[in-house]
Amino acid sequence: MIPYGWHDIDESDIAAVVEVLRHGPLTQGTTVERFEQAMAADCQSQYAVACNSASSGLLLACRALELGPGDWLWTSPITFAASATCALHCGARVDLVDVDPATGNLSPTALACKLAEAQSLGRLPRILVPVHYAGRPCDMAAIGELAQHFGFAIIEDAAHALGASDHGQPVGACRYSQATVFSFHPVKQITTGEGGMVLTNDAELAARMARLRTHDIRRTEGWHYSIEEPGYNFRLTDIQAALGLSQLKRLPDFVARRRCLARRYHQRLSGWPLMTPHGSDDDSSAWHLYVIRLGDQGERRMVYEAMRAAEIGVQVHYIPLYRQPFMQAQGMTFDPKAFPGAESFYASALTLPLYPGLTHVDQESVLEALRTALSALHPATPC
Ligand SMILES: *Cc1c(COP(=O)(O)O)cnc(C)c1O
Repeated sequence: MIPYGWHDIDESDIAAVVEVLRHGPLTQGTTVERFEQAMAADCQSQYAVACNSASSGLLLACRALELGPGDWLWTSPITFAASATCALHCGARVDLVDVDPATGNLSPTALACKLAEAQSLGRLPRILVPVHYAGRPCDMAAIGELAQHFGFAIIEDAAHALGASDHGQPVGACRYSQATVFSFHPVKQITTGEGGMVLTNDAELAARMARLRTHDIRRTEGWHYSIEEPGYNFRLTDIQAALGLSQLKRLPDFVARRRCLARRYHQRLSGWPLMTPHGSDDDSSAWHLYVIRLGDQGERRMVYEAMRAAEIGVQVHYIPLYRQPFMQAQGMTFDPKAFPGAESFYASALTLPLYPGLTHVDQESVLEALRTALSALHPATPC
């Protein structure tokens, strides 16, 4: 099976991990700090707080921003559950803003409409979580302007977007946001096995997240410490940080390789009966996912089944959040008709394999399986 995503580990990564295993410390050492400093420098932000997953990072950021009962967090429906569950774990509620069907990113137009309506109902969000879907940055300037006007905080879910840039600035610089969260799960841009990082320019927020990551333990003198609020053990180990530091050095090569493969898909797929991703030759995206759009739900299902049968690990990112029982368990009913962008995206999207180690031979196998599936559906259209 050719998977849709896969990590890339080389001898330099292995040597970096072995070095920590030989000499320690295995956790709470300086390798974690060095990884944080390297991420902050690369992303042009002031502070970075490493943690054991992006899901933990999102929760740390919500807790540090004091999201709680009575509050609302808004995100977009075309995302992984963690963009929303962070709010539920704080006792807050989640509402959703439709996406631009061209990109899968949160639509600033839909956001503006929903904010005006929420203001009249006295139900404005405390936090917005824009998701840089597939590695393409959301329109942060437009979203940031609305945040200023309506007074909500922004946590960027950049789990897909390490290595992306927004008008020349790296995602993670937090120009318009309070915090930006990255994931180091093996399918993401770089990996630590499991892991995540929250970047911010707010010293207070960074300190608070770092304390909550380690049970809010505040050392005073001697053996004494105090804990003022319940925290977590969300620490990244030094073993993982060593891998992360080594992988971060390789990030430019990873992104270049992803862009090259995306351009190749784009060229090869032109003229085929499908839509290639918006801005296929755009260098601002980190190209985490290569998502094509097929005619409709039935066609997508047939292509999915045929490609899976041919051992090509195509995937669907994502089932819209409002279709998940945990969202309805908030006592809310979501009408899919209120999300035309997400419905159209979900009906037609299919993720093709894309990762640095994907060879041209693998890519040809993907294209061949796709050609076979499509020519059964569109005999008149040559691929
Ligand atoms: C992977 C992912 C997460 C969660 O990352 P973990 O490190 O696995 O917790 C959150 N949001 C999005 C959009 C993701 O793709």
